Amino acid sequence: MKNQEWLLQVSKLTGLPYYEQHRIFGDKSGALIGLSDGFIVAVGFSKTDRGHAAIKILLRYAKVLDSGVVHQALDSAKGKFKLATDQTTATLVRIYSFAKPDTADVAEKVRELLIALKTTALPIGGKCEECGRAEPQMLLLNDVPAYYCPSCQVQVAQKLDAAALAYENLETNLPLGLLYGAVAALLGSVAWGGAAYLLHRIFLWGAIGIGLLVGKAVVKGAGKVTWTARIMIGVLTAASVVFGDSIFYALIVKNQNQLAFVAALKLVMANFWKLESDSDGGLVSILFGLIGAGITVYGTRKPAFKARFISLGIPVTTLSSVAAK
Ligand SMILES: [Zn+2]
Repeated sequence: MKNQEWLLQVSKLTGLPYYEQHRIFGDKSGALIGLSDGFIVAVGFSKTDRGHAAIKILLRYAKVLDSGVVHQALDSAKGKFKLATDQTTATLVRIYSFAKPDTADVAEKVRELLIALKTTALPIGGKCEECGRAEPQMLLLNDVPAYYCPSCQVQVAQKLDAAALAYENLETNLPLGLLYGAVAALLGSVAWGGAAYLLHRIFLWGAIGIGLLVGKAVVKGAGKVTWTARIMIGVLTAASVVFGDSIFYALIVKNQNQLAFVAALKLVMANFWKLESDSDGGLVSILFGLIGAGITVYGTRKPAFKARFISLGIPVTTLSSVAAK
């Protein structure tokens, strides 16, 4: 059965309208989005973070103080679904491998979940979520079905724009970022070189750890992450791994030749590139360090602030109208 056909069947069984055009769960077949007993319900195909095919159910209710109570109530009705709740939304995910879950089963599950939800939460529908004024029209705010009256839509958009502006105007403290990063890099070098010497092997995962550590330290010091800060993270990470290798070699040279550590370190530094390119792990460990740094940098991308309101439009009701598109 195609996703579209599956969704249409569940739409008929639950009475939830099917919008092929709203890919709120990421799948191109769209989703069922509607109101049931005053609660917002959405059902559709999705993928988990690990790429598993899954069915997703979204339930939205009037804001509760303690989402744990809602979680408890839904937990007994969730069946094969995994459940996550916050103050206004419960998200249920069911992974499947080959055959899609039975449409009647899923429709029944939606019904049971709603019965459980009614015991702990109040309906959300028909009222603006911000000001509580009557608002008949459901819409999507950044792909989440919700109720916002026209004036609150403007306010929410302005609030998010202001947040974006505040982020742009954040000061970047590069010297402090450099200081924090350098300390972290030095600590990383000592740990890397020391561990390699004591354990007689190099752990490439350790290099990723150094990258993460240096990245975190620079971000903490600098506040906002700019391109300069990103480059700083990369350079400090590579330097940390390289210097860690030097410490490792110096410890060996010191013991073999009865030298003082500093003298051994000088000797190693003078012949560093020869040693590094002769060794197996040198460049690879720098690469792993940069992977760790990259993970941190990726995590500090500018957050998305834009509020996107989309009206639901017209649902599809027959398979032929799906196929016609
Ligand atoms: Zn409002």
